[in-house]
Amino acid sequence: MKIICIGRNYREHARELNNPVPDEPLVFMKPESALLLNNRPFFIPEFSNNLHHELELVVRINRLGKHIDHNFAHRYYNQITLGIDFTARDLQDRLRAEGKPWEISKGFDGSAVLAHLINRDTLPDPGNIHFHLDINGQTVQRGRSSEMLFDIDTLIAYASKFFTLKIGDLIYTGTPAGVGPVRINDHLEAYLEGEKLIDMLVK
Ligand code: ZN
Repeated sequence: MKIICIGRNYREHARELNNPVPDEPLVFMKPESALLLNNRPFFIPEFSNNLHHELELVVRINRLGKHIDHNFAHRYYNQITLGIDFTARDLQDRLRAEGKPWEISKGFDGSAVLAHLINRDTLPDPGNIHFHLDINGQTVQRGRSSEMLFDIDTLIAYASKFFTLKIGDLIYTGTPAGVGPVRINDHLEAYLEGEKLIDMLVK
């Protein structure tokens, strides 16, 4: 399986990092070894002093597809959940300034937190889902899928132009504003429509 991630998919988040708002989806990948499951603790890697949380909606692909038409894209996923795209921001900034690929700042072990999957049918409109992240009881990120620059169907159609989508592939759909550093002993709790899906510690 593969993990497809979308950058700068919320206007306010692009602005907070002084990035331009993209006119097409910005795609990168993480390897399967990045997955961190079952609310296991996240260990801050020694190569970063500015490790950021990015809370995101994640969809799981449930059928094989290539060149998927936007009108049919909704048939290619039936489960959704929350994930955290952990990012070594200092490393990413340095690599980007040097014009190098920044894969290692995003794809390292444990950088893709994934909560348990929820059937899409049990949720209200996937185009209008609320989610938020609390750290030590304080809400730091709040998102609403309706605020995505490119919606889920658009992301599926776009990604499938380049990559054959397979059953089990994940798409991390981008983070809303409010990203920031995590520190040792932080307690992260994330909610999808009020249901707590992530409850984990930073070590
Ligand atoms: Zn992200």
